[in-house]
Amino acid sequence: MSIFAKVELAPRDPILGLNEQYNADTRSTKVNLGVGVYYDEDGRLPVLKAVQLAEQERAKQSAPRGYLPIEGISTYDKGAQALLLGKDSELSASGRALTFQALGGTGALKIGADFLKQVNANATVHISNPSWENHRALFERAGFKVDNYPYYDAATHGLNFDAMVAYLEQLSAGDIVVLHACCHNPTGVDPTAAQWEKIANIIKAKGLVPFLDIAYQGFGAGLEEDAQVVKLFAKLDVPTFVSSSFSKSFSLYGERVGALTVLCASKDEADRVLSQVKRTIRTNYSNPPTHGGTIVSMVLNNPELFALWEKELAEMRDRIRTMRAQLVAKLKEHGVTQNFDFVLEQRGMFSYSGLTQEQVERLRNEHGIYAVNSGRICVAALNSRNIDAVAKAIAAVL
Ligand code: PMP
Repeated sequence: MSIFAKVELAPRDPILGLNEQYNADTRSTKVNLGVGVYYDEDGRLPVLKAVQLAEQERAKQSAPRGYLPIEGISTYDKGAQALLLGKDSELSASGRALTFQALGGTGALKIGADFLKQVNANATVHISNPSWENHRALFERAGFKVDNYPYYDAATHGLNFDAMVAYLEQLSAGDIVVLHACCHNPTGVDPTAAQWEKIANIIKAKGLVPFLDIAYQGFGAGLEEDAQVVKLFAKLDVPTFVSSSFSKSFSLYGERVGALTVLCASKDEADRVLSQVKRTIRTNYSNPPTHGGTIVSMVLNNPELFALWEKELAEMRDRIRTMRAQLVAKLKEHGVTQNFDFVLEQRGMFSYSGLTQEQVERLRNEHGIYAVNSGRICVAALNSRNIDAVAKAIAAVL
């Protein structure tokens, strides 16, 4: 009998399944709001100017493509770390912050999870309810038990902060708490600065291990503003993990550009952690790829390219904000009386729209507008050509 005879069919990825359905839809008016990427006003994946310039420069150099060090390009790691901790961070200067080039945010989470399993095997991992759909599977695959902490409150379209705090307060020392540092995916709901302070204090007092996931830095309020939460945790002096992704902020999804940062108590501890995380990487994929990392490193370390990138990032952020405002205004225009102002408060590319699964199905079947069953829509997939039709269709199914 074949070793595969008893292999069960894995469930379909709900979002990829939605894309397949969308691609098969022949209606010319169809709109895909189920995606997890930033589209520009023309409905296309942008190629940033800063990236184009760096690529032209790199092509001119015709640089050889040798193996990179296990931890990646040192200027990339330094640049990624500075984005999180600031340029004059004491943690960086004292060698207590380690950054590893990783295969996207996913790769950073995976390396962090595998290393955590080595040093903190019996911990439970706690992720928000809801969370990015890969968090649970990724930490379970690394061998952890995964639970959900209360997060989203459907009644208020906001944060269920009291329940979240009560939950965190009863966790055991060493437990791992995955937190979205900004632009929560899928809800778009972030804690306030005061709420973050309280969360950080509980993490410290209870001896919990924070794992900050920052996949949308720059899409909330700005590069520096969105890193405030990381800086807050860095001040706590507790072992901290940070997974960053440049997939969206550089529009370099397929290049797999991300980073894992680990904050340690001393230089000596950092040296030992460095050696072990390198082993984790070595036994997974040996070392990261050259191209995307080189491009990102060139942009992060060249003041002109950096300024251009920051400007382009601000344009993406502003366009999403404009789409939020237009969606709310157009819903009113189309006679919707329910209050959708919460959409204006949400941050990042996504919005938990409050649409029920039944309404999402009607949007899809009757209007060719595709959203995730949870009601999550990608605001970055809206543009001035499709937004009226989307608002009209939502008004029709409410
Ligand atoms: N974390 C969150 C919260 C995400 O939304 C995503 C996906 N965009 C990732 C991590 C993974 O990022 P990447 O695509 O760079 O692997």
